[in-house]
Amino acid sequence: MTPLRLSPPQWRVLRHLATYSATAMRTGFLAKRVRDTTGADDADLTGLADLGHITGRLHGGDGPPLAITLRSHRGDPRLRIHLTPTGKSAAQAIEIAHRALRHLRAHAPAPLTLTELQHDAGVGDDTLTELEACGFIDIAPMCPECEEPAERATPTSWTPAWGRAPSWSHLDGEPLCPVVGANGYQPATPTSTDRRITLTSIGRRYAEPHTSQDRS
Ligand SMILES: [Zn+2]
Repeated sequence: MTPLRLSPPQWRVLRHLATYSATAMRTGFLAKRVRDTTGADDADLTGLADLGHITGRLHGGDGPPLAITLRSHRGDPRLRIHLTPTGKSAAQAIEIAHRALRHLRAHAPAPLTLTELQHDAGVGDDTLTELEACGFIDIAPMCPECEEPAERATPTSWTPAWGRAPSWSHLDGEPLCPVVGANGYQPATPTSTDRRITLTSIGRRYAEPHTSQDRS
């Protein structure tokens, strides 16, 4: 399972722990503090422990951090949360995804083009594909000239006298904006990078600033 499918509070837990990953792996943080900082509840923490992302240890105890300790001492004020190497990798994937969603949120309701998002947020195709699969973003083709949505359909206003009908149109059925081609002006054709990306309502929940490092 991709870590992007974890819940928004679980994203915040992993991002919070990864911000201080050396401490989070070595001495851990009190569970109460992690819950207060991230808004996560015991079920969120148990879910992360089940996936091997975090473990628990009792403050003052001498045993190693274990998932079972976290599960059996939920609510114990001595419980400390440790980040595992698996959890750290998951946190890194989430951090990149969160950066993309944050950029989209900052521009909403306007979409960002694929080029803008890749350039401004440094997000690769893999992350965008995962974000789309999770339903956090919509990726749609656009007219390369006006950046409005495009669809693969013959323009309704096209007449055969104008030559072979283009296979793309604006959503209102008009041809895409003209560009200069080999035979003079002709409607533009979107390439694989002519994409516009919008945040979905689910994606917006994941992009909410919550932890102190998001607000600063
Ligand atoms: Zn256009």
